Amino acid sequence: MKRRPIITIDGPAGAGKSTISKLLASRLSFVCLDTGALYRAVAYRLKCEGWNGTAGAIADPVRHPKISLMHQAGRVRVIVDGEDVSDKIRTEEIGLLASKISALPQIRENLLSVQRELAAAGGVVAEGRDMGTVVFPDAEVKFFLDASVEERVKRRYLEMISKGERVNLTDIENDLLLRDRQDCERSIAPLVIPEGAFVVDSSNQSIPQVVDFMMSIVERVCPLRECFFT
Ligand code: C5P
Repeated sequence: MKRRPIITIDGPAGAGKSTISKLLASRLSFVCLDTGALYRAVAYRLKCEGWNGTAGAIADPVRHPKISLMHQAGRVRVIVDGEDVSDKIRTEEIGLLASKISALPQIRENLLSVQRELAAAGGVVAEGRDMGTVVFPDAEVKFFLDASVEERVKRRYLEMISKGERVNLTDIENDLLLRDRQDCERSIAPLVIPEGAFVVDSSNQSIPQVVDFMMSIVERVCPLRECFFT
């Protein structure tokens, strides 16, 4: 049986992927797959285990934690080995650790099958760094969402402040540039523009403008509306 479409959104930290992919998924009645949350969940487990930073020292249960995503009242809860870590993984520290461990082949290999299983039926908007290149190279529609460094830093700063975190702009910028460098320069599944992707710069566009634009592309590329709702 033919699966429903998969739409991928790749891009750097702070480009607006999480917000946009949730809205796009809701407009299409699709599920949103936040793959960064999976890397963050593994990073969180490693931190709790007091990981020493070397690839060889990752114990198997930590390398292969049981991760599930639960959709609850429009929000996605991330459950790792039975613990709800949804809020604990959304810190700068875990974001940086996730970026570091995401360069390790054994972590990427394990999460590759997890991501494909979660999207097996299609009807998914998948966001991350290697969605259109490695995980779902046959996706029906691919986007690369970008924004200027200044704009991304500003958004991340406001997001952290709204959560009550004590942060400053310089630290946020340094963390973001470090993450960009790690994600773009790693040898496995680096962040690049996937072949055939529509590149969207969200620096000077409102969220609804970006979502409307993406919807127009999706409807043009996948004109059979029935494939969205069956
Ligand atoms: O998107 P988010 O900031 O939650 O991702 C955290 C980190 O996880 C990224 O900086 C990146 O290193 C890693 N990641 C990845 N591949 C993905 C999604 C996230 O390497 N598909």
